Amino acid sequence: MKKKQIAILGSTGSIGTQALEVIAEHPDLYEVYALTANNRVELLIKQALKFQPEVVVIANESKYTQLKEALENQPIKVYAGAEALAQVVEAQPIDIVLTAMVGYAGLKPTISAIRARKTIALANKETLVVAGKLINELAQQYKTPILPVDSEHSAVFQCLAGEIGNPIEKVILTASGGPFRTCTLEQLAYVTKTEALKHPNWEMGAKITIDSASMMNKGFEVIEAKWLFGVQPQQIEVVVHPQSVIHSMVQFEDGAIKAQLGMPDMRLPIQYAFSYPDRIQSSFERLDFTKCTDLTFEQPDTKRFRNLALAYEALHQAGNMPCIVNAANEVVVAAFLHDEVGFLEMSDIIEKTMNKVAYIEHPTYDDYVATDAEARRVAQLLI
Ligand code: NAD
Ligand code: MG
Repeated sequence: MKKKQIAILGSTGSIGTQALEVIAEHPDLYEVYALTANNRVELLIKQALKFQPEVVVIANESKYTQLKEALENQPIKVYAGAEALAQVVEAQPIDIVLTAMVGYAGLKPTISAIRARKTIALANKETLVVAGKLINELAQQYKTPILPVDSEHSAVFQCLAGEIGNPIEKVILTASGGPFRTCTLEQLAYVTKTEALKHPNWEMGAKITIDSASMMNKGFEVIEAKWLFGVQPQQIEVVVHPQSVIHSMVQFEDGAIKAQLGMPDMRLPIQYAFSYPDRIQSSFERLDFTKCTDLTFEQPDTKRFRNLALAYEALHQAGNMPCIVNAANEVVVAAFLHDEVGFLEMSDIIEKTMNKVAYIEHPTYDDYVATDAEARRVAQLLI
């Protein structure tokens, strides 16, 4: 059987490196065709030497020379810049593009990959938050499958296997609640980035870890679920489940609920997106029910975690509103990581930005680009 050729956008990140572990475990099934990163050139070089891709791209052009020189004696093409990144996914041999880069920057290469009819293994949820409608239309037009990598959406996707034609009544996304689940509003005002960066269950990149602490991540996942599964906002429910054993659930018309369970390990959803519709062997740790004796559930509190309510609001308003929220969120998270804003101020600034940037009901791609730039400008001024 021909090995699947995989391009990884963001190979040096948390998802990217775990994807390479999956590939290394199945050299008979998968081969790396392209690796890309933003800044971490040393790690990219190490990965390129080990996995021998056809091509590597570094988004930050100032790192090009270092990359090029290190790979001089290798049969590997080396490029730099955002344009090259969007082009590399179109290469004919590529079967799957894993979008594991963080933020709005994922939108453009994802669109290129869809147009080139590559199966998308989608980790970059911001793409669907910003432009879910456009992405779905393109995916339909080019008949490109979009397979979820986000653990909650992979869980829902796994629950939907064999359910063709059976309507979904409800999608129930589980949330760990993050490190501040039990904090009061007064305490939340003073939490630090160091505390926010300590997620109880998952090891992830800095941006999504802050989003998890602020529940914006769950808000984004609600939006992501709408576009992936074609459900209405009122059909998407969030339940806090601190143990992160149930990765999410689907409720059907007869009231039956299916759930997918397992250890919190992103390699499983990554591998499932690669192997779909098959399941393949893995060495990942197995869930041991003698060790998880109390699975608990709580309602999310949108008074303390306003971002979740803001994301639902953006989803209801639709148009370019989720794009505004995403841009403002990227700005405030970066500011929080630089100690420039407090934890609760992040939601204040996002809400104000939502009210200030012009609303567009039916945005085009260019409208999204303009909205993103304008929302960033507004949010930055508010800091
Ligand atoms: P990360 O910060 O660990 O890695 C990000 C990767 O993207 C790096 O390789 C970086 O070089 C690259 N990158 C960043 N900015 C870029 C730019 N402007 N241009 C090109 N490349 C750029 O992030 P992560 O935790 O691996 O998350 C990646 C994506 O997957 C995010 O959208 C996140 O929401 C999603 N996701 C992550 C997890 C997780 O467990 N880490 C789970 C679900 C979804
Ligand atoms: Mg998730």
